[in-house]
Amino acid sequence: MAERMLQFVRVPQQTPVKRAAEVRKHDFREIYDRFRPEKAAEQASRCSQCGVPFCQVHCPLNNNIPDWLKLTAEGRLEEAYEVASATNTFPEICGRVCPQDRLCEGNCVIEKGFESVTIGAVEKYIVDTAWERGWVKPARPPRELPHSVGIIGAGPAGLAAADQLRSRGWQVTVYDRYDRVGGLLIYGIPNFKLEKEVVLRRWRQFEEAGIRFVLNCEVGRDIPFAELRARHDAVLIATGVYKARDIAVPGADLPGVVAALDYLTAANRIGLGDHVPDYESGALDAAGKHVVVIGGGDTAMDCVRTAVRQGAASVSCLYRRDRANMPGSMREVANAEEEGVGFVWLSAPEAFLGDNRVRAVRAVRMHLGLPDASGRQSVEPIPGSSFERKADLVIKALGFDPEDLPAAFGEPALAVSRWGTIKVDHRTMMTALPGVFAAGDIVRGASLVVWAIRDGRDAAEQIESWVLAHKAAPAMAAE
Ligand code: FAD
Ligand code: SF4
Ligand code: SF4
Repeated sequence: MAERMLQFVRVPQQTPVKRAAEVRKHDFREIYDRFRPEKAAEQASRCSQCGVPFCQVHCPLNNNIPDWLKLTAEGRLEEAYEVASATNTFPEICGRVCPQDRLCEGNCVIEKGFESVTIGAVEKYIVDTAWERGWVKPARPPRELPHSVGIIGAGPAGLAAADQLRSRGWQVTVYDRYDRVGGLLIYGIPNFKLEKEVVLRRWRQFEEAGIRFVLNCEVGRDIPFAELRARHDAVLIATGVYKARDIAVPGADLPGVVAALDYLTAANRIGLGDHVPDYESGALDAAGKHVVVIGGGDTAMDCVRTAVRQGAASVSCLYRRDRANMPGSMREVANAEEEGVGFVWLSAPEAFLGDNRVRAVRAVRMHLGLPDASGRQSVEPIPGSSFERKADLVIKALGFDPEDLPAAFGEPALAVSRWGTIKVDHRTMMTALPGVFAAGDIVRGASLVVWAIRDGRDAAEQIESWVLAHKAAPAMAAE
């Protein structure tokens, strides 16, 4: 091992080639090329195979990172794929969209002065190679079991649970109100971070594995929640969070002021070849417009970068705190800046101006005050500092809250927290309703793909234990 690994002293950190901003901003393709095989092996060999790998500790899936890095450095890619896929349902997706700087790579402990191992890029390389070489196979359950689970939501949490249970022989039905599988992987996250074929090929495999998808089916509207409970031995709620937070300022309802997810979903649908009337009418198309995006999270970054690619005349992002205090990933901010986005830090909208449609944003400068009870610095407007910014399209990207699920499902006993997220027993992931489990954003609030996968996999374990303890005997007898 020794001579192959520990190469960080000799080999500098290199990420896969990032396409030049001038080129990539004219298309929606992913911005990073893939590692060449020798580069992947070389970068993997920088790992020092720590006794206590902090990269692994800080990966929500506790991926066995040192092992797959070593196997990649040795050219044993099929084994590296086996290790990477043992703990992760979608390693190639995490390699693309995890904020690695805050998770695995941010905790890589290569000695000071040497930059971290490029874990995410190697993970993506291993699994994309596995797909190309036909190593990624649909789950083949050893035998069919009579147990049945109904999963509400085909996002990463629901799919991770579906995959785990199906691979053990369960009868799995996933219900989703959308017409495609993937949740925010398909309609939220833009192509330039995650090309849709990467999600679609997983969908095809899940179908080949025998997972049943009931699409265009909103539970609570098209099918009663109670009916799902009667149909299945257990139910998993993995519905995500979709209620957009709003801004209570004058003009917030003017035509031309739109919600981030409406905008991004339209762009993703166009990329998938769908007919989107609101895009075709121009309402959700930034071409030729002066675009102002409000917010400082990853959704805001996705909006500004989508607007650039649609050919906006100008794109700026208004955020009420400064760069150091923004919630979005620094890597995404840097990508947006390279692509020509202007950031207006420490400013908040006071009003959206216009008669029949928006023509400008009036904003006020802010300053950061003392930390509040949460430890975050408060923000205060600076009197008399208002300014106007021209805008033909304003995109509100202020975050998401859960919908009122007890009302939507007609099930008042489904307990929720004061934020509206579903309450679960964190050891069993079961809600207040026996046999009903919940996972992903609907439990955590808006979070990350990798946490949704973790939750979905954990929920599968808990569902299995609960059904075996409570329902297995009669169901097995019926076999
Ligand atoms: P979702 O992915 O939201 O899936 C929930 C599914 O449930 C949806 O398909 C929905 O249609 C369905 N559903 C809801 N209600 C019903 C119902 N009543 N009946 C039937 N179906 C229903 N995370 C990252 O890690 N990296 C990123 O780069 C990143 N970028 C993001 C960009 C955007 C624009 C957004 C909005 C989020 C981003 N995230 C990112 C967060 C990440 O996408 C989510 O944390 C993750 O998708 C949550 O997974 P989930 O399965 O809980 O929910
Ligand atoms: Fe890092 Fe995410 Fe992969 Fe874990 S799943 S190793 S956090 S990129
Ligand atoms: Fe390798 Fe860094 Fe993980 Fe240590 S922390 S095992 S050097 S990737």
